[in-house]
Amino acid sequence: MVSYDIIVIGSGAAGLYCAHQLNKEGYKVVVVEADQRIGGRTRQDVDFTQWPIELGGEMIHGGDTLYYQLAKENNWGIFEVFSMELFSQNSKNTFFYLGRERKLISQDQVDDDMSMLFKALGSMKEDTQGMTQEQIGEMNLLELLVKKGVPYRVLGLADAVYSKTWGTNLDRIGIREAIREDEKPQAILKNYKIQQSSKALVDFLANGLEIKTNWRAKSVDYRDGGGVSVRSYNGKTITAKAAVVTVPLTILKENDINFVPALPQRKLDAINVIGMDAGMKIIAKFNKKFWRQDCQLVLCGDSPVPQIWMDGPPLRPLDKQKPAEFVVTGFITGDQAKSIASLSPAAQIKAFLNQLDSMFGNSQDWTPATNCFISHIVYDWCKNPFVRGAYSFPSIIPSSFKYKESPNQILSEFVDKKIFFAGEATATQYELSTINGALQTGLRAYHEIKENLPLTSIRDSKL
Ligand SMILES: Cc1cc2nc3c(=O)[nH]c(=O)nc-3n(C[C@H](O)[C@H](O)[C@H](O)COP(=O)(O)OP(=O)(O)OC[C@H]3O[C@@H](n4cnc5c(N)ncnc54)[C@H](O)[C@@H]3O)c2cc1C
Repeated sequence: MVSYDIIVIGSGAAGLYCAHQLNKEGYKVVVVEADQRIGGRTRQDVDFTQWPIELGGEMIHGGDTLYYQLAKENNWGIFEVFSMELFSQNSKNTFFYLGRERKLISQDQVDDDMSMLFKALGSMKEDTQGMTQEQIGEMNLLELLVKKGVPYRVLGLADAVYSKTWGTNLDRIGIREAIREDEKPQAILKNYKIQQSSKALVDFLANGLEIKTNWRAKSVDYRDGGGVSVRSYNGKTITAKAAVVTVPLTILKENDINFVPALPQRKLDAINVIGMDAGMKIIAKFNKKFWRQDCQLVLCGDSPVPQIWMDGPPLRPLDKQKPAEFVVTGFITGDQAKSIASLSPAAQIKAFLNQLDSMFGNSQDWTPATNCFISHIVYDWCKNPFVRGAYSFPSIIPSSFKYKESPNQILSEFVDKKIFFAGEATATQYELSTINGALQTGLRAYHEIKENLPLTSIRDSKL
């Protein structure tokens, strides 16, 4: 049986980046992936439009990131899109929609209630001064906003702007962890896309790696002094000196992988506390741009689809021989994703088109979205058997969670210098829940392995 230095479990951004670095360093690495394809939560549909449509991770959040750097160095065709900065000149392409009032609002029309909301979202740290860490840990964002007196009419917008970006609901965002995230170096805010899509990243990282697809890890045995043995659901076994676990949090929560011996209790407690909610995209294609020229992103309170963004020409160079195509992506997470997912396919697209008609209809055309609609696709990440959700979010920390470190920090810790952890939910220095955060965790696991299992020592040892 071939034995490896390192087995990487999962072929998302974290696993591939870790394996890519280890391989470059000379380690004998194998990546095992449960799915028949690689890339994890980055995935494309290449037939829907003239450019590849991202069904999962889409934007590079921030120019000062490892992901941006890789895209730039390798000429993947980066272009800037909307910004998520509230109240900023950089955000002139970002609009807000108050669903109950049927009001589409540009940055320069933001009213006093909205200003109060945006200030409250930016002042969580000051607003919790005087509270104990335990009290802040247990407090959720809805409670804080209500306590601050943020008017009810804009709470739906708070959900769309903040918690839906985090992939969950207002009352599931924990304040202590949200403050921790806001203080990280890349708290967004410029966004970029890649003309070639995030597949360029996956192809680049996978190049030269040994990858086994349809290879779903069932157990990781690190009992004996000799190393690690990973067994698949099909009864195959691979051995190595160490393994890097990069599977989504849901997979750990639902015990798809049996660790022998069991993982330390503090890690099990961390896995239990961190949240990961539902997430889906509904992507519709139109034959006309029926929205304002300058509109690229709309954050929609009290609406079935909380975030929508536009794509197509002039952002995309298209074949002039073919008819122009315009795309609107609806990004839906948390309980709203569960609600939309429960509808029939016909009702899902109807709900989306109705919302777009309400937002952009006028006396010349009350139903522009319905009238210009060509076709659509839906991708529900809860239905992906090896992901089962969107991504992790800053969670509420119950008082029963007695550790001083954040749960994500605990999740990231390696065990016995044999089981290393990476993946977006283990991001501690960089942002959770993003492709860049995942890449950074892959880099961290690589450094941990290099430091604790240097190539020279593992090659010399009888392990
Ligand atoms: C709808 C959506 C939109 C998003 N938008 C953005 C965005 O615009 N920008 C951004 O930066 N991020 C975005 N994200 C988040 C980003 O895609 C993820 O944070 C990132 O891709 C996660 O990478 P990862 O390596 O941690 O995990 P994953 O990519 O999930 O990789 C883990 C891999 O483990 C595999 N696996 C599971 N179980 C097993 C097993 N038992 N054995 C072997 N393999 C297994 C899975 O199949 C998967 O391939 C989005 C995510 C979603 C769902």
